[in-house]
Amino acid sequence: MADRHAWTEEGAHPVAPGVHRIPLPLPSDALRAVNVYAIEAGSGLVLIDSGWALANALEQLQRSLAAIGAGLRDVRQFLVTHMHRDHYTQAVEVRRLFGTPIALGEGEKPSIDGLLSGDFRPLRAQLAVLRVAGAADVADRLAEVTSGSLAGRPQPGATPGPPAALRQAAAASFDALSPGHPALRPGTTVGAALGYEAPDEWISGQQIFEVGSRTLTAVETPGHTRGHVVFADTQARLLFAGDHVLPHITPSIGFQEAPSAEPLRDYLQSLSVVRRMPDMRLLPAHGPVSDSAHARIDELTHHHAERLQIMADVLAGGERTGYDVARSIAWTSRQRKLGDLDLMNQMLAVCETVYHLDLLTAQGVAVSQADENGVRYYRLAAPREPSHRLR
Ligand SMILES: [Zn+2]
Repeated sequence: MADRHAWTEEGAHPVAPGVHRIPLPLPSDALRAVNVYAIEAGSGLVLIDSGWALANALEQLQRSLAAIGAGLRDVRQFLVTHMHRDHYTQAVEVRRLFGTPIALGEGEKPSIDGLLSGDFRPLRAQLAVLRVAGAADVADRLAEVTSGSLAGRPQPGATPGPPAALRQAAAASFDALSPGHPALRPGTTVGAALGYEAPDEWISGQQIFEVGSRTLTAVETPGHTRGHVVFADTQARLLFAGDHVLPHITPSIGFQEAPSAEPLRDYLQSLSVVRRMPDMRLLPAHGPVSDSAHARIDELTHHHAERLQIMADVLAGGERTGYDVARSIAWTSRQRKLGDLDLMNQMLAVCETVYHLDLLTAQGVAVSQADENGVRYYRLAAPREPSHRLR
């Protein structure tokens, strides 16, 4: 296992001439670390992704840049693959110090706007999906954990807060806000307190970035998030893949404030977009560099085809809710039951099940109908009538 985590070792690791992989720490160790890629651009650097705004991550970034004779001041621009905190928020912090401009995919705008709006509620979109999936108990428990952490003030005589494991899982995505946290002061949004501000530039279409002698093409790859982009240097065969293609794990789908309607359909389309490009080395945000993005894309595509088939098989037994289906299939490489996952992962699993069932529905394999409470039931589409017409 030590080898599997070797990629997290501190430093500026060369991956190509003038390109350095810089792993930075995260607050929880589920993902171990996040890779920032520093690309030499004439007298300065362009950074792909930035890390999570944490004091120890900023210090480690400074030490790693110093190892290649540079400092934070030398960063000319951040190109950020998506709006998740571990990719985006440290860029905002560095911009406060040095004015460094940040570019982010324009599909992230609804989520960034949502985070910065006054009526932000953590996991609003996910809680809605859970209720439609018939997982009201999961939604209720999550709502309790999240509102508890946001309110930050235990009620007198109330039962003790949620178990530490739940709090930690919850904190991984939206943080626990203690009393006196800036977010609780009037006029400060939760998004700002979590380290969010709008970028300087919204990346749209196949935008080109000249970075020193390299030409990077931003390719829109919605799915993991709605505005996810990868940056491709096709000439040097380098794919800065963010969380679109990860070597060790299957990226989560649609986990953000304002997900698209069909994140899995988006994601599979985005995989095929990159699969149609020339094969490149895979430079992921979590995990080591490997030689073929295509090889990993094929595995991820196969994984989702398999999951779709498994869920269709469950529907063959009759009408089911998303929650029913999530409870009847195995999760993670250890084949765990839904109820054995922590609350955050139960939420992600049920949402992912719903996105698969919705894709089966869009493909005509399944049909669905909501009951009077808005809970959606899926069943296999009626088998097609055999054709009696003779030739
Ligand atoms: Zn992410």
